[in-house]
Amino acid sequence: MARYTGPSCKLCRREGTKLFLKGTRCLTDKCGIERRGYAPGQHGQTMARRRKASEYSKQLREKQKVKRMYGLSERQFRTTFRKVRAEPGVTGANLLISLERRLDNIVYRMGFAPSRKAARQLVRHRHIEVNGRTVDIPSFRVRAADEVKVADASRDMALVKAALDQASRGAPISWLTVDAEKAVGKVTELPTRDAIPIAAQEQLIVELYSR
Ligand code: SF4
Repeated sequence: MARYTGPSCKLCRREGTKLFLKGTRCLTDKCGIERRGYAPGQHGQTMARRRKASEYSKQLREKQKVKRMYGLSERQFRTTFRKVRAEPGVTGANLLISLERRLDNIVYRMGFAPSRKAARQLVRHRHIEVNGRTVDIPSFRVRAADEVKVADASRDMALVKAALDQASRGAPISWLTVDAEKAVGKVTELPTRDAIPIAAQEQLIVELYSR
C-alpha cells in the first residue's frame, strides 16, 4: 500500500495521542491534539463515547499507532514483525527494538532531524554516514558501537542545527551518546524495551498478527 501523504495531525487525532510527526510544532500549542483532541471527521467528537472498543479494535489501533509513529507502510511493518517473530525473546519487545534500530529513527533520536520523516529525507539525500560510509537506506539497522554522523558538508544545514538545538533541551537517550558540536553520535548499546521511550502496548500488536 502507498505511503500516507495526508495531514500528519489527523493521524495523531485518530490515535488519540501525540505521535510527534511534525518536529518542533508538536511541542507548541499549535499541536493538533492540543487544539482538537478528538478523532477527525464528522463524527469524531461522538465516536469515543458511542461504542465500547472491541479487543480487535484495541489491537488494531495499537498497531496503527506504532506503525504511524515510525512512518512505516503496512507492508514494511508486517515484514519487520515477521522477521522478529523468528528471533528468540519477547516478540513485542523485539519488534520495538528492531524499529528503534532503523537508521532514520537513530538520526531522529540523536537530534539531527526534528522528526523521523525529516530524518528519512536526510538519509535518502545522502547526508548521513555510518562508521565513515554514506548510508542512504532509512531501514538500515544500526548495531552496538556504530558511529552515526551528519556528513561534514551537511553539518551547517539549518534543519540540522535547529534540530540539535531543540534536542539539547530534551531528555537524553540512555543508549546513545551525541556530540552536538560535531554532529556525530554513537550507539553505545542496543536498547532494551525499558530504554525505549514509547508508551505502547506491543503485546496487542503481537496478538493482532497472531490471529
Ligand atoms: Fe501530532 Fe505533532 Fe500534529 Fe501534534 S503537532 S497532532 S504531535 S503531528
